[in-house]
Amino acid sequence: MPSLGVHDMAIDLGTANTLVYVGGRGIVVSEPSVVASDLGSGAVHAVGAEAELMIGRTPATISATRPLRHGVIADFEVTEEMLRYFIRKVIDRRTAHPRLIVCAPSGVTEVEKRAVEEASLAAGARQVHLIEEPIAAAIGAGLEIEEPVGRMVVDVGGGTSEMAVISLGGIVIARSVRVGGYEMDEAIASYIRNAYQLAIGSRTAETIKIELGSALPLGDGERIFEVRGRHLVSGLPTAVQLRSEEVRAAIATPLAEILRAIRDTLEQTPPELASDIARDGILLAGGGTLIRDFDELVARETGMPVSRAESPLTCVAVGSGQALDHLDTLSLTTRQLGRSPATPDWRTAQS
Ligand code: ADP
Ligand code: MG
Repeated sequence: MPSLGVHDMAIDLGTANTLVYVGGRGIVVSEPSVVASDLGSGAVHAVGAEAELMIGRTPATISATRPLRHGVIADFEVTEEMLRYFIRKVIDRRTAHPRLIVCAPSGVTEVEKRAVEEASLAAGARQVHLIEEPIAAAIGAGLEIEEPVGRMVVDVGGGTSEMAVISLGGIVIARSVRVGGYEMDEAIASYIRNAYQLAIGSRTAETIKIELGSALPLGDGERIFEVRGRHLVSGLPTAVQLRSEEVRAAIATPLAEILRAIRDTLEQTPPELASDIARDGILLAGGGTLIRDFDELVARETGMPVSRAESPLTCVAVGSGQALDHLDTLSLTTRQLGRSPATPDWRTAQS
C-alpha cells in the first residue's frame, strides 16, 4: 500500500485554469484549461498553455476551446483528454496510478460529477474523490471549517462564481452563477465594439480588465490605456484611448450579478450562521476577485467585513492538496458522522 501518499494528486479543474498539486511537493502545474483540437477528426493538437496561444489564431480546421467554460462539462471527451494531459504531465507511466482529489464547481450536476470521475479514472487515476470548490478554497485559505461556525466563501472564477456558507465541514447553503471573469472580458469587448466600432479579441479584453478594471471609482488613480483592434468599418488595425471609467462602467453589469448572488446567499443563511459571518467576514477567492476594489465593493454592498485569500488563484488547489492528507479517513469520516449537508461535500469513486 502506498502509505506515503507521495503520488497522490489534487487537481483544481477550473473554468480558466487547471492547477495540479502533488502530495509532498505542492503545486507543480498551473495552465489554462484550454484544448486545441481538429474539428474534423477530433484529434487533440495541444492542451494548456500551448493551446491557449492558439485561441483566436487557429486555421479553420482547428478549434481552441475551454471545455469547462461555465463550470459544466460541455465536452466529456475533451475534458478527459485535458485531465489525462495534466495527470500524465506529473506522473510517469511506470508509477502506480495516483489517488486523486478533483475540485469541481459546486454547481455541477450529478451527471457532470460522474463525468469528472469517469474522465479521471479513464485518465489513469486509481481512485477519485471530488471536493467542492468552496470547501477547498476555505481549507486553502486556512479557515477552520470543521467548527460549528458559519464561514462564507465567495469564489469568482473565469466562467462561474460560487458563494457558499460552510459549517461543520459541510456546505449549508450554496449558490453558483454562470458569471465570472470572462463575462467581464465580454462586457469590455462589446462596449469597445459599440463605442468605437473596434473589434478586439478575448485576450486583449482580459488584459484591459486586468490593467484598467476596477469595481469602484479610482479617484486620482483613473488611467488611460491604448487599445488596438480592427476597425469594423474600415477593416484596418486601429488604436483608441480607453479610460478606466469606461471599463468600470462596462463591467458593472456582471459585477452587479455577482453581488446579487452574494446578497441572496446571505439572505438565505440561518441567523446563527449569519451572525458568525457578520463577525468573521466573507472570504474572497478566485482570480475574478483580483479586480481592483472588489473586496471594498462587497463590503459596502453587504455591510460585512471582507477579506481576500492571500493567493486567490491558488488557494483552491492548495486546499484540495491539503485534503490529500486526509484521504484515508476522509470518506469514512463523512460517512461515520452521517453528516447531511445540503450538498454532499465529498464523494468517492473507485476504478
Ligand atoms: P477558474 O477557477 O474558473 O479557473 P481562476 O480562479 O483561475 O478561475 O480565475 C480566472 C479569472 O481571473 C480570469 O477571468 C482572469 O481574467 C481573472 N483574473 C486573473 N487575474 C486578475 C486580475 N489581476 N484582475 C482581474 N481579474 C483577474
Ligand atoms: Mg476556481
